[in-house]
Amino acid sequence: MDVPFLSLKEVNARYADELKAAAARVIDSGWYVLGDEVAAFEREFAGYCGLRHAVGVGNGLDALSLILRAYKELGAIEEGDEVIVPGNTFIASFLAISENRLVPVPVEPDPVTFNMDPAGVEAAIGPRTRAIMAVHLYGQLADMPALTALARRHNLLLIEDAAQAHGAMSDGRKAGAFGDAAAFSFFPAKNLGALGDGGAVVTDDTMLAERIAALRNYGSDVKYRHLFQGLNSRLDEMQAAMLRVKLKYLDEDIAWRRRVARRYRNGIRHPHIQLPDLAREEQHVWHLFVVRCTRRDALQQHLQAHGIQSQVHYPVPPHRQPAYASLRDAHLPLTEQLHDEVLSLPMGPTLYDAAVERVIEVCQAFECPA
Ligand SMILES: *Cc1c(COP(=O)(O)O)cnc(C)c1O
Repeated sequence: MDVPFLSLKEVNARYADELKAAAARVIDSGWYVLGDEVAAFEREFAGYCGLRHAVGVGNGLDALSLILRAYKELGAIEEGDEVIVPGNTFIASFLAISENRLVPVPVEPDPVTFNMDPAGVEAAIGPRTRAIMAVHLYGQLADMPALTALARRHNLLLIEDAAQAHGAMSDGRKAGAFGDAAAFSFFPAKNLGALGDGGAVVTDDTMLAERIAALRNYGSDVKYRHLFQGLNSRLDEMQAAMLRVKLKYLDEDIAWRRRVARRYRNGIRHPHIQLPDLAREEQHVWHLFVVRCTRRDALQQHLQAHGIQSQVHYPVPPHRQPAYASLRDAHLPLTEQLHDEVLSLPMGPTLYDAAVERVIEVCQAFECPA
């Protein structure tokens, strides 16, 4: 049996009739940008996150970037200011910072959760630090109580990159509801995925939400009145309609991902495969199920040879990318080690029991080279 990493075709086939009906509704409406579907999705997604505002934008990177841009417009951050970010993240977290001519200051992860280590964050705070960007990596909430306390104590903004963590919870609060503002991505492979690109900012801050709503639309509040030099980055009506269908099933999908993760965690018992650890089940929505192995490439080849797809999230950390030559000398040994050792196993809402069992069986049969 071959096991794909994630079959988006199967994921969306489950709601094909509803998705097609929603698409037909948009086609027939004759209105394709910033209309009723986006407004309805913004209301529904804000409600899901437990916040007052959601602003639909073009993608997750723009969601992050627009938060920082709005804070610049509001005078809370200036060019050249520093934003502390996990060294161990997808490059979009960094790009949003440098795109705004701010300086990303990468810090090391906690070795157990792979998320930002609050002690490292505190040590990185300097006179030009204005914000902390927490990433809920792989779908697990970062240590938000500690980061919130730090942000308060040092008078910093706390921004969540929640692109991998739709629906992750702690103490009754959802991802996106801990910081001053949060960015979500609806890239098709995310836990809440559109059928194209999409993103949203969520916040309780009305002024910030209004600013971002204008910035995403040429800096305009009323047609042909331009308050700011904005950009064009809007969630479109078609994607909003798709997302309204899929949001209804998000919690079911998360429950299934947790079931897969439980099976993996119970079934894989291998001296050379280190399983992900978690503090509390509700805090993790398992966007990715990431194991560690000192012979990662051999493990990936072994899985491949048995028809099981896996991926590496991520093979090269941002500070070691050609795009960030300025950060090449950053000392992040743990981040670099993780990038050499992590491997993401198949995970998703259509990974059924037989496939999960097959992945477990093949992992168990791995003969780790010395
Ligand atoms: C996917 C992702 C983004 C970017 O989202 P896009 O919609 O692809 O632009 C940002 N941060 C993290 C952690 C992500 O996983």
